[in-house]
Amino acid sequence: MRPFTEQVVLITGAASGIGRTTALAFAAEGALVAAADIDGRGVDGVADEIAACGGRAVPLRADVTDGRQVEQLIGQVVREFGRLDIAFNNAGVEGAPVRTADVSEDDFDRIMSVNVRGVWLCMKYEIKQMLRQEGGVIINTASAAGLVGAHSLPVYAASKHAVVGLTRSAAVEYARKGLRINAVCPAVVRTPMIERAFTQFPDLLAATTANNPTRRLGEPEEVAAAVLWLASPDASFVNGVAFPVDGGLTAQ
Ligand code: NAD
Repeated sequence: MRPFTEQVVLITGAASGIGRTTALAFAAEGALVAAADIDGRGVDGVADEIAACGGRAVPLRADVTDGRQVEQLIGQVVREFGRLDIAFNNAGVEGAPVRTADVSEDDFDRIMSVNVRGVWLCMKYEIKQMLRQEGGVIINTASAAGLVGAHSLPVYAASKHAVVGLTRSAAVEYARKGLRINAVCPAVVRTPMIERAFTQFPDLLAATTANNPTRRLGEPEEVAAAVLWLASPDASFVNGVAFPVDGGLTAQ
């Protein structure tokens, strides 16, 4: 039997990049995947890809910044599959690279809204469901920028530090209720989010790889592998960690 057979997994930001790759990885290991994203056509495509590989997925359109939509999203997952075993709160946005004094109020609000409010809202309704079931696993996507400062990405870094704070706090609160809550902290990973930044700022690729001990970018599959391990029973005593998947970037 495959490790996640019949396990119900919700993934936000599933239309692209790390979320899409993790959705495919869970489905390949037998999970029933609820693929959620604000990009409805994107998640339709991911669900089709999963079905083409013999897996089962439902595409769900939701904006994680909207509490009503998030509550409805969790309700839809439970109606469709009967429960929610694993949630990967991964939807996020980057900011344009600017220093602290030059960040606009609009950018501050946009980044905090998706990256912090969105993760918190998802946790809020997932935890309620997991308490009813007396168990569940949550993994949030923070970032290496949730562990150390990030030059010219101050609000993004602040938002990801907040994700780590939410993760650690909830992990402590619900440890005796059968929940495990952890975060992954990737360094720069080759996804559409990063390809956009490299197109806009061509010097960024060389600077990014030079800064990493491995002298390369991460691949979405390497993040997905860490998420699947954190979600598995092999990680049964792992709770409240901010798990770097960063080639040693934050070890420097
Ligand atoms: P991506 O842009 O490829 O995918 C992000 C997905 O989130 C998109 O499909 C987008 O539609 C969705 N999304 C955005 N706002 C949303 C909203 N309000 N509601 C629902 N969905 C929404 O990016 P990615 O690189 O795969 O990033 C995934 C996560 O990983 C993000 O949280 C990002 O901050 C984090 N991260 C990425 C990197 C990297 O280098 N790529 C490094 C560290 C952390």
